Amino acid sequence: MKFRNFKMVDYVVYGRGSFNQLDEILAPHRKQGAPMVFLIDYFFQGKPLVNRVPVRGNDKVIFADVTYEPKTTYVDKLSNELKDLYGAVSGVIGIGGGSTMDLAKAVSLMMNNSGSSADYQGWDLVKKPGVYKAGIPTLSGTGAEVSRTTVLTGPTKKLGMNSDFTPFDQIVLDPELTANAPVNQRFYTGMDCYIHCIESLQGTYLNEFSKSYGEKALELCQYVFLEKERWDEECDDKLMMASYAGGMSIAYSQVGVAHAVSYGLSYLLGTKHGIGNCIVMNHLEEYYPEGVKEFKRMVDKNKIDIPEGICKGLSDEQFDTMINVSIGMKPLWENALGKDWEKKMTREKLRKLYEKL
Ligand code: NAD
Ligand code: ZN
Repeated sequence: MKFRNFKMVDYVVYGRGSFNQLDEILAPHRKQGAPMVFLIDYFFQGKPLVNRVPVRGNDKVIFADVTYEPKTTYVDKLSNELKDLYGAVSGVIGIGGGSTMDLAKAVSLMMNNSGSSADYQGWDLVKKPGVYKAGIPTLSGTGAEVSRTTVLTGPTKKLGMNSDFTPFDQIVLDPELTANAPVNQRFYTGMDCYIHCIESLQGTYLNEFSKSYGEKALELCQYVFLEKERWDEECDDKLMMASYAGGMSIAYSQVGVAHAVSYGLSYLLGTKHGIGNCIVMNHLEEYYPEGVKEFKRMVDKNKIDIPEGICKGLSDEQFDTMINVSIGMKPLWENALGKDWEKKMTREKLRKLYEKL
């Protein structure tokens, strides 16, 4: 038995208005002549948050285009441009949802590693630490703020740069920043966290470490999505901590069926992570009976539409592509169904599941 010895985020600040401390937090990490790069979700372009970003000297603000989930080509473009412009930078600060945070992690790593980010998609392939990096979520749920991966779509695969160099040096958890998230987006990303909890707590990899974080995150999700009458500041506070705890839970276990199936959708159809997980979760009664029942109550209570019929009319070849991507996620299946998962989840069975979505 080899126990995972996992690298965590170095510094965490939490609280409403903690974003105002960013200038002070970054000061010791500024290097002479090397700018801080603020990679900000393009949603905030022209919004008041931009004026609160502590831009000094030759600092650079880049608005991250997150129309698509991060691609290795985009990471390479951003890091090569920064290398050409400045040679070295003091740090990369990602302000946004999971996509922007993942981009920031990847760009930070690529500032100090040669070649393309696609060369490092996998486990422990990154050779050198990146430049200083901080993550500041503006949506809660993915757990990208605490994870040791950055999910990238590359030329041949959708896979993260998983490494001990990947976690942020600093995260700033300020629930005020999530206040304006549209109801649907907030739900989809929030359900990513809820699904992390169900998959972790119902998985065979479960241990007390994951369970402790998973149960807390689950309780927070239940409170904000079921018990509360109306969404308010308390919900933003709680969902931000749910995301953190949910991320900590899967860090020491694994996700499961919803993620494994949703990866296939995302690879073939470009379906985004949060909504993709919801589309799949809607049909997983067989695997997570209680969780799916509760998920459906959350959908109803929050008046959310979950798309149906997205696999209608796909060709055999397209189904095969999704099945290949999904079946390839071995640890997820093993966590969900046990060591003999290949007997339980056959290609035929998976095809039937995809046909339902
Ligand atoms: P996202 O970052 O893709 O953003 C979704 C949309 O919300 C975008 O249009 C964005 O502009 C907008 N947005 C962000 N903040 C907003 C705000 N405060 N108000 C209004 N709009 C806002 O969404 P996400 O669900 O947070 O992240 C999904 C991404 O995270 C995927 O790329 C997925 O692969 C990745 N992910 C990473 C990990 C990890 O461990 N690294 C885990 C799960 C998911
Ligand atoms: Zn997820």
